[in-house]
Amino acid sequence: MILVGMGCDWMLDRGVNGDDGPAILRTMSFRGTLRWLSIPFVCWVGSCVTFHPLQPRQTTGKAAEVAALREPAWQILGSSVAGRPLRVAHYGTGARRVLWVGGIHGNEREGGVATAMLAAAFVDAGGERAVTLTILEDANPDGTAAQVRGNANGIDLNRNFPTKNFKASRLFGQSPLSQPEAKLLHDLIAAQKPHLIVVAHSCGGDHFINFDGPAQGVAERFARLSGYRARASEDLWPTPGSLGTWAGVERGIPILTLEYLRGREPNIAWAETKNAILAVVLDG
Ligand SMILES: [Zn+2]
Repeated sequence: MILVGMGCDWMLDRGVNGDDGPAILRTMSFRGTLRWLSIPFVCWVGSCVTFHPLQPRQTTGKAAEVAALREPAWQILGSSVAGRPLRVAHYGTGARRVLWVGGIHGNEREGGVATAMLAAAFVDAGGERAVTLTILEDANPDGTAAQVRGNANGIDLNRNFPTKNFKASRLFGQSPLSQPEAKLLHDLIAAQKPHLIVVAHSCGGDHFINFDGPAQGVAERFARLSGYRARASEDLWPTPGSLGTWAGVERGIPILTLEYLRGREPNIAWAETKNAILAVVLDG
């Protein structure tokens, strides 16, 4: 370090980097010539020995790959009524396709931590080879911002899907997919053709795992691992125009409606269901 510093200063003082270098060489003594000739070598060695370790260290190899995979890589697929981004992130490249919807009712954000933590848990569990996981961060960001059930038009997006039992109304929309958020989610599912959809909701006074379509087995597995009861949608209340009816009942895509207890602290909600979510995401 010291040699390099002195040498490089000397070169600048004597103008070795300038046009007069050869003139200096001609008038130097033999010892001085040797010294001049030694400078490039000393600087070269110095640069190898001294400068390289000062370069910023970069994480490489498997650790970097895993770190990159754990990072959310959000893509904006579209916009809500009020212009908020509708964002998705994809993880893994496996043949099994799973779609996680972080929320569709804006006043049901108990699954927010689960949505934020799922990607890292999925990567840590080694799921990226077998599964392609798509996370829709929030299907109703306007409702979330206002902490209300519907979107900025006051429409319940989970009643705006093109089912046989769709009911036109002020709260459900005058036609199926009249709302951009519902249309985007519909198109995402139509394009992706997932093997499983999981949607985070919350429910007053109870928590359970609700299912539509051919999802009884996966719901029961979820129930065993979480302690949440499995319940068929048809045994609950009418849900005309719901995502569950459209995707599960009418298109045969297994879909779980994860009903967290309303008001449950989101970190606790995630801790209660993490293993169950990973199990059904990884292999149904
Ligand atoms: Zn809900």
